[in-house]
Amino acid sequence: MQRYFIAPELLTETDVTIVGDDAHHIIRVMRGKAGDQVIVSNGLDREAVVRLREPEKDRVVADIVEWLPMLNEPAVEVWIAQSLPKGDKMELVIQKGTEIGADRFIPFQSERTVVQLDAKKEGKRVERWQKIAKEAAEQAHRNRVPAVEAPLSWKQLLERIGQADAAWICYEKQDGLQLKQRIQEALTKHRDSSVSRTAADGPTQAYTAEQRIKLLLIVGPEGGFTEQEVKAAEAAGAHSVSLGRRILRTETAAMVGLTCILYETGEMGG
Ligand code: SAM
Repeated sequence: MQRYFIAPELLTETDVTIVGDDAHHIIRVMRGKAGDQVIVSNGLDREAVVRLREPEKDRVVADIVEWLPMLNEPAVEVWIAQSLPKGDKMELVIQKGTEIGADRFIPFQSERTVVQLDAKKEGKRVERWQKIAKEAAEQAHRNRVPAVEAPLSWKQLLERIGQADAAWICYEKQDGLQLKQRIQEALTKHRDSSVSRTAADGPTQAYTAEQRIKLLLIVGPEGGFTEQEVKAAEAAGAHSVSLGRRILRTETAAMVGLTCILYETGEMGG
């Protein structure tokens, strides 16, 4: 069944008004007609099967048929901080990270970041990235659309480290404590039973924002991080972690780290 994320204010207790690209898709692409059913989500805390009324010129009103439990979201929030990569690699990171289960994407500039975005270009890029996240979330049957933030400076990123329950800077020269132990340390410290759910428990409940542990994964650009940057991140409270002995491309590293975290927290059969 086709799924659409709509603005929260358009979804009421009894019906929903679908407008814009989503209405266009229903009317023109899906050739929707009265009686057809689709799924709508406000991307926050409500999701329902709805039955279309007769589509109008540029909007479709539909009636709530059944509220759905929102069980497709991980019990942990993984924030992917990605040093702006060259070309369209950021689109790949956002699309694949959304499918896997990332909660948000935080692009940033670090010393060896090659890409320089001016304000105008940056606004357009973030808009396109957010659209990619929405489409990937619909395809993946996610209950929420990951947020794509505006790029941060390195200094601003360091300030985000303290806002997470745990932060890990991916560093290929680190061969100490591996990611697995760091994840277990964070879960124990957070003592949030909701994240200790195992696959055996099954998706038994939706998780509220405050219940979800917040984990920040920081990935460098094609040229990597400088020693000073790693030290500065550690001084700000992050731990440096290895993702194994192979050197991963910048666009691969976040996917590997994200998958390890979600596997270890029982979100992917782990
Ligand atoms: N220094 C790397 C080299 O020698 O080619 C270049 C950086 S790598 C292409 C891009 C980023 O991916 C790194 O900054 C790091 O964040 C992450 N990364 C790649 N492989 C990794 C690994 N084995 N362990 C931890 N992080 C890794």
